Amino acid sequence: MNGNFDLHSHSTASDGSLTPSELVERAHGNGVDVLALTDHDEVSGIDDAWQKATELGMGFVPGIEISVSWAHQTFHILGLGIDPGNLVLRTGLDQLQAFRHWRSEEISRRLEKANIHGALEGAKAFCKGNILSRTHFAHFLVKQGYARDIKQVFRRFLVRGKPGHVPGEWASLEEALGWIQTAGGMAVIAHPARYSLSATRLRQFIAEFIELGGAGFEAISGSHSRDEENNMLNMAKKYNLLVSCGSDFHGPENPYRELGQLSSIPEDCTPVWASKNWPGVWERRA
Ligand code: AMP
Ligand code: MN
Ligand code: MN
Ligand code: MN
Repeated sequence: MNGNFDLHSHSTASDGSLTPSELVERAHGNGVDVLALTDHDEVSGIDDAWQKATELGMGFVPGIEISVSWAHQTFHILGLGIDPGNLVLRTGLDQLQAFRHWRSEEISRRLEKANIHGALEGAKAFCKGNILSRTHFAHFLVKQGYARDIKQVFRRFLVRGKPGHVPGEWASLEEALGWIQTAGGMAVIAHPARYSLSATRLRQFIAEFIELGGAGFEAISGSHSRDEENNMLNMAKKYNLLVSCGSDFHGPENPYRELGQLSSIPEDCTPVWASKNWPGVWERRA
């Protein structure tokens, strides 16, 4: 199976700026043959995206990007080909959404102490779905002139050690893989070069992921440089992991790469979609 696969993207159902159907239209216009919608901890965009993809005759993969805590750090695990109605998955996502709800109030309280007022209401004005993300706070803070762009606002306000940072626990790796597998999906480590981990810790993380039945590795990511892509492809080969590719598109104004403009997966790696375990139910909905 060949074609232009983009297996990581966001809509207004989480912190993307295009609606699910606008996102699918843009992907189609960019020549994408198979798109996965992978909103953070939320599946409510899937129906509309799926419908639009079917209208356009484009392949669609219902997906999710689950927030995970491992060794007090946040990791993102993609679930590709999940059944968005699966109750185990939905119950797990409800827990993450409850944590997000509390965290957004806490971010706002902490920003208040730093003399930044009205952050919760301000962030909500940028949020069109159920998921309130740090990205929405970032948009509010940029609008208020606290930083020049999203990257700078994260560095100054929203990461560890900064006024709006809130520590906390997401799903465990075991829970996330359990939910994804129960919902019939394939688990993939998202943007593996983005974590600040020593090589030893990254190896431990990968070993645990494999032990829990994980097999996919997003070596090709819109957030990776060419060097990072090459390093991650080597890592995938070393651990015999299936390679995934995704832009991590959040909207036209986003710093990451465009939909459907990714490096191809080299011949000596196996793409996730060539695996016998690739969930094949999604390609066309009748
Ligand atoms: P959250 O899941 O609410 O903690 O927010 C995480 C999201 O914030 C990520 O999915 C990215 O979209 C965005 N993000 C995180 N770090 C940065 C950064 N340094 N620059 C821009 N966006 C970021
Ligand atoms: Mn995001
Ligand atoms: Mn991510
Ligand atoms: Mn993402």
